Amino acid sequence: MAIIVQKFGGTSVADAQKIRRAADRVIKTVKNGFAVVVVASARGKQTDQLVADALELNPNPPKREMDQLLSTGEQQTVSLFAMALDTAGYKAISFTGGQIRMITDNVHTKARIKSIGAERIHEQLNKGRIVLVAGFQGIDENENITTLGRGGSDTTAVALAAALGADECEIYTDVDGIHTTDPRVFKTAAKIEQISYNEMLEMASLGATVLHSRAVEFAKKYDVKIHVRSSSEETEGTMITHEVPQMEGVLVSGATIQKDMAKLSLVGVDNKPGNAAKIFAHLAKAKVVVNDIVQTEVSSEKANLSFTIGISDLTAAKEAVGQIKDEVNCESIFTREDIAEISVVGVGMRTHYGVADRMFGALAEAKINIDTITTSEIRISCIVDKAQAEKALEAVCVAFDLDKPIEKRKN
Ligand code: ASP
Ligand code: MG
Repeated sequence: MAIIVQKFGGTSVADAQKIRRAADRVIKTVKNGFAVVVVASARGKQTDQLVADALELNPNPPKREMDQLLSTGEQQTVSLFAMALDTAGYKAISFTGGQIRMITDNVHTKARIKSIGAERIHEQLNKGRIVLVAGFQGIDENENITTLGRGGSDTTAVALAAALGADECEIYTDVDGIHTTDPRVFKTAAKIEQISYNEMLEMASLGATVLHSRAVEFAKKYDVKIHVRSSSEETEGTMITHEVPQMEGVLVSGATIQKDMAKLSLVGVDNKPGNAAKIFAHLAKAKVVVNDIVQTEVSSEKANLSFTIGISDLTAAKEAVGQIKDEVNCESIFTREDIAEISVVGVGMRTHYGVADRMFGALAEAKINIDTITTSEIRISCIVDKAQAEKALEAVCVAFDLDKPIEKRKN
């Protein structure tokens, strides 16, 4: 029998009525002839509440105890869910991550999955049961409970789908799928029917928060189809799959906006071997995660080097750069915090010309100045003033018809 993994996020199981509705979905899938494995998150804002409870008692709680605590949220959901299925006349059994041997490394609060024991689940499915697995958690080799990082239930679901050889992993959520951009900023953003793993990974790293990006990495590695869809409406959502030829026909699949970032520029660094290495060695030692890096030679003697980081790393980055400034003979350091990054993403830009032209043209027409431009094979990003970020995103979305279904866009 074909297996489907169905994951329900916190808002989709927030109260008894919603759990009943989610259970109805599962039952419908069972009636359609599938064996179903359910992965669920903690109900509503319960994880946030548990974090707050911990911080009230200890401003710096031991990470092992944090995992022990946070994992209880998901455990509650799956047992309640199993009870809802039971009363509806369906046999169901719930497990914690540890009980199904979801083995992770021992990095508490952001553990990575190492292996999954699929036997116990197969055994239960073969007995005709619906199997429910608590998301977001595992155990390390010494049986300590671990968690996969906030939003990690998506990763549990995709990893299980891969381990069980499931046909598909459905992610039920409070939106009806992935949109071309954040509908909170650009209200008429269109729903995307199909998007590739690579595009989704770019969008997730650029600030799209619908899916845990580790989940997409897993899906790509094991070729698991992900279907992101609404838990309240019976509509088709968004399929995330490997690239198919027709995806290249779309100029741009989505646009993102990223705030909470900063840019550091080292002006007039000596243009000689080893200087970039020295600077980034200091940043690495300070555990600063660097996003885009731009270096340009300004003369045979001097070069300018800029890079972007998350705003929370700014103090550490400034300190690290300050320590190396004299050694690389840097003339001045320039910091900007009042910036945001607008990006367009699409595999189509590999085969179409004029994408950059259209993006920069839209920003020019809206009288928005571009600070820095960076690109990858399937992405173009512009840094703009934070105060103009929303306006910039809108201009770009309109230029690429991101409010229209694919057939209606001008290419
Ligand atoms: N309950 C966890 C969180 O809130 C995991 C998840 O929902 O995916 O982050
Ligand atoms: Mg989530």
